[in-house]
Amino acid sequence: VARLAPTGAATIHVAKYLHASGDDACAGERELEGLLDTVQPGWRECLVERQFLPLMTVANALVPAARGGIAGRPGPPVPDIRNVYVVGDWVGAEGMLADATLASAKLAAAQIAADRREAVAVA
Ligand SMILES: Cc1cc2nc3c(=O)[nH]c(=O)nc-3n(C[C@H](O)[C@H](O)[C@H](O)COP(=O)(O)OP(=O)(O)OC[C@H]3O[C@@H](n4cnc5c(N)ncnc54)[C@H](O)[C@@H]3O)c2cc1C
Repeated sequence: VARLAPTGAATIHVAKYLHASGDDACAGERELEGLLDTVQPGWRECLVERQFLPLMTVANALVPAARGGIAGRPGPPVPDIRNVYVVGDWVGAEGMLADATLASAKLAAAQIAADRREAVAVA
């Protein structure tokens, strides 16, 4: 279990999915506070810090079949720019969402290490 707060404190998340426009974000915040009043009464008196994130991005890109699906995603190396790599859930031919982010980060790190070995061997 991840430790998200110091001993004696707690981090509480409440969330709901909104329409992509985010138009009902303020109403959504009141609704979430109401839910917390019900399940965790007294939270307002104990509050140290709060963060309201009404427009979180779930996925940074779709993978349309017309662009080859997952296998058609770009990177990690950026074409025509040496030593620049991208990582994220829109990168690489493996996984979806967080899996794709970590898979592309691992691939980018391996490619950077291989490039360095090659540069050292040439020098
Ligand atoms: C509510 C929700 C539920 C989810 N549930 C799951 C799940 O169950 N399983 C799963 O695998 N995935 C889930 N995801 C998706 C997962 O969180 C994302 O796929 C993953 O975080 C993408 O990682 P990323 O590094 O590509 O992008 P992000 O995590 O979006 O990171 C990009 C970072 O770049 C920063 N940034 C943006 N623009 C700039 C700029 N101009 N300059 C500097 N910094 C900038 C942003 O602030 C952000 O910190 C969920 C996402 C959400 C929002």
